[in-house]
Amino acid sequence: MIQKEMLEYQQLDIEQNRIERELKKNENYVKRRQFKAARQDCEDNIARLDARAADLRAQLALAEQTVSRINDVIEEHSKEVDTLEDVDELNYMNKKLNEQLTELANVERDIRRILREGEEIAASFDEAVNKLPRLVAGYRKADEEFNRATAEVKPRVNEIRNRQAELRKSIDENLFNVYKKVADGGLYPVFVPLQDGTRCGGCRMEMPKAVVEAQLASKNYVKCEHCGRIIFKQE
Ligand SMILES: [Zn+2]
Repeated sequence: MIQKEMLEYQQLDIEQNRIERELKKNENYVKRRQFKAARQDCEDNIARLDARAADLRAQLALAEQTVSRINDVIEEHSKEVDTLEDVDELNYMNKKLNEQLTELANVERDIRRILREGEEIAASFDEAVNKLPRLVAGYRKADEEFNRATAEVKPRVNEIRNRQAELRKSIDENLFNVYKKVADGGLYPVFVPLQDGTRCGGCRMEMPKAVVEAQLASKNYVKCEHCGRIIFKQE
């Protein structure tokens, strides 16, 4: 037989696990997590759009500098053309001028592209910024509701913890360590009764009768070779 304080302790652990499991199934726990993730996505998106906008501003500044430089060159060429009389030189300068005009057209196309993308970014940015308060409010509401649900079970959880602390004082240290080792692996319940003389009360698998009897005789419990639970014989 296993110490009755140990079994009561286990029972309380099971109850506490059930309370925690139910809290995690709580609609507001789920909502809170969803809102949190959506809020994070939204904030990441805003940061990304912000970075892209800064990038576009830099591109635009560069393009404007290029336009200004080309305009200077065109003005320069235009002045030179006015002073030229030789046809070959004139043709040459016209060619140079046309090159600059082509380059100018390219930069202007680039600027239109930057401005167009800028407008798209601004629209997405507004959309994200407008959405954010709703996500923050949704998170807060779910958080409040969930905290209320947690507060409701709090007295019982405290009761369980106090009683467990009390029981712990009289539980055999070795037995408690055996329990902890299995319980920490997430296996519940740890202590299960022996069934039909050779069967584990947890996984229902059978063990050799000789093994069961030898172990029961030496330490009054058997470790299930199938599931790892601790099997005890009910008196
Ligand atoms: Zn078992």
